[in-house]
Amino acid sequence: MTSLPHTPAESNEHVGPSVVWFRDDLRVGDHPALHAALARHRPIVAVYVFDDESPGVRTLGGAARWWLHQSLRSLGATLEALGGGLILRRGPAAPIITEIARETDAAAVFWNRRYGSAERMIDTAIKAELRADGVDAHSFAGSLLFEPWTIQTGQGGSYSVFTPFWRACQAGPPPRAPYPSPDTVSGWSGSLATDSLDDWGLEPSAPDWADGLRAAWQPGETSAQQMLGRFLAESLPRYGAERDEPAQNATSRLSPYLRWGEISPHQVWAATQEAQRSLSGPALASATRFLTEVGWREFAYHVLFHAPELATKNLRPAFDAFPWPELDHEAVTAWQQGRTGFALVDAGMRELWRTGSMHNRVRMVTASFLIKNMLVDWRVGERWFWDTLVDADAASNPFGWQWVAGSGADAAPYFRIFNPELQAAKFDPHQQYIRANVPEYGTDAYPAPLVDLGETRRAALAAYDKVKAQS
Ligand code: FAD
Repeated sequence: MTSLPHTPAESNEHVGPSVVWFRDDLRVGDHPALHAALARHRPIVAVYVFDDESPGVRTLGGAARWWLHQSLRSLGATLEALGGGLILRRGPAAPIITEIARETDAAAVFWNRRYGSAERMIDTAIKAELRADGVDAHSFAGSLLFEPWTIQTGQGGSYSVFTPFWRACQAGPPPRAPYPSPDTVSGWSGSLATDSLDDWGLEPSAPDWADGLRAAWQPGETSAQQMLGRFLAESLPRYGAERDEPAQNATSRLSPYLRWGEISPHQVWAATQEAQRSLSGPALASATRFLTEVGWREFAYHVLFHAPELATKNLRPAFDAFPWPELDHEAVTAWQQGRTGFALVDAGMRELWRTGSMHNRVRMVTASFLIKNMLVDWRVGERWFWDTLVDADAASNPFGWQWVAGSGADAAPYFRIFNPELQAAKFDPHQQYIRANVPEYGTDAYPAPLVDLGETRRAALAAYDKVKAQS
C-alpha cells in the first residue's frame, strides 16, 4: 500500500479550494502535491504559470517551448477528463500565485519542489506570503528520488564524485513507491481567468521548423508511460551492451519526459525494479546499469543544488584561466549545422536539429569536438544544446558540458579527447547512424574536414597546460 505524502492538517479559516501549482511535473500520476491536495477533499484549482519574467529563471529554448506547448495541452486534456481543468497564466509567478489564492479564497497551495536557486527563492517568498495570508502552503518531493540536501558525505558536505554519491543514495531508505493516478480531480466551480495556450506563441511559426520534432516525439503523460513500458519489455536486457551504439535504439528516450515531469523518476524506478525481477546474468546487470544512469540525473541535480551557477561558471576555478581563442563564428555555425566534415559529429548535430535530441554517446563526441578540437568555450555549446534539445535540463545539460570539458564535477580528464573517427568506428561500425543522418556522406557533396584532428589535439593540450599551471 502506498502511504500518503506528509499532508499537513488544515489550519485556517479559508473556505475555498486547494490550489495545485504545476511546474516541472506535468502529470497527474505520482504527483505528491496533487495527491496531498486531493486528500483534503476540496475542489482543485490546477495552475500553470509561464514565467519568463522573474529574474534568474532561465529562458526556455525553442525546442523546449515546443515541447511545453504539447505537454500543457496534454495535461489540460487529462485534467478535464478527470473533472477539472488547467488555469494558464503568464508572468512573474509570485504575484500570480498569491493573487489566485486570494481570488479563490484558497485554503491551501501545494506544489512539487524545483532545485534551481532562482526558482527556490521564488518558492520560498511565495510560501512566506501565502502563510502570512493564513493559507496552508506546502512543497513536496516529486521530481527527484533523493532530495539533494539529504545526501551528505561523512563530514556533512556535498559530493563531487558520482560513485560515492550513488553509494550514499543506495545506503539510505529506497525511493518511495509511486502514488496512484487519481480517478477524479473535481474542479472549482468559481470562475477564474485563464490564458489561451495558443496565445503564448510557444510553437514556432514563420518558419515552422518543428516538423522533425513532431515526427520524432509525442509529448504527454500517456506517451511517457508507453515509452517506459516498451523500453522495459524490448530493450532493458540489452541496454548494458548496446546503450553506447546510437543506431541500436537501445536506450529509453525518457529524458524529455523526465525533464518535464510527464513521468516521475519514482515511476521509472519502481517499474524497472519490477521488470528486473525476471532477469538474471547480463540482463540483470543491464537493468542495474539503467538505474545507475537515472542516478546520474540525481547527481546532476545534487551538483546544481550546491553550485547554482553550473551553466555559467567552471566548477573547477582553475579552468577560468583557460586561454580560449577568439570565437570563430563561421566554424561554430558549421558545427551547429553538422558541416564539420567529421561524420559522427555531423550526424549528431543534424539529429539534434531535426529531432530535438541526440544520443548520449554522440553528445559526448560532439561536445568534445567543439571544446577540444575547435577550442570553443563549453558555454557556447551548452547554450546551443539548451536552445535545441527537447530535454534541455537546467542540471543535466551544463553538468554534461562541464563533464566533457573537464571543468566539472567528477569530470572526464581534460586530456581525454574523443577522436570522432575512432568513436564512429567503434560505436557505429556499419555507419547506420551516420548514413541515416548525413545522406551525402561519402560523396563529393560532403564537406572537407574543418580541422586537423592531430594538430588541434596538440593545441588543446598546450592550452590545458596553462590551466594546470594555475592549479
Ligand atoms: P537512458 O540511457 O535511457 O537513461 C535513462 C535516463 O537517465 C535518461 O532519460 C536521463 O534522465 C538519465 N540520464 C542518463 N544519462 C545521464 C547523464 N549522463 N546525465 C544526466 N542524466 C542522465 N540529459 C538530459 O536529460 N538533459 C540534457 O539537457 C542533457 N544534456 C547533456 C549534454 C551533454 C554534453 C551530455 C554529454 C549529456 C547530456 N545529457 C542530458 C545526458 C544524456 O545524454 C541524456 O540524458 C540521454 O542521452 C537521454 O537519453 P535516454 O533517455 O534514452 O537515456
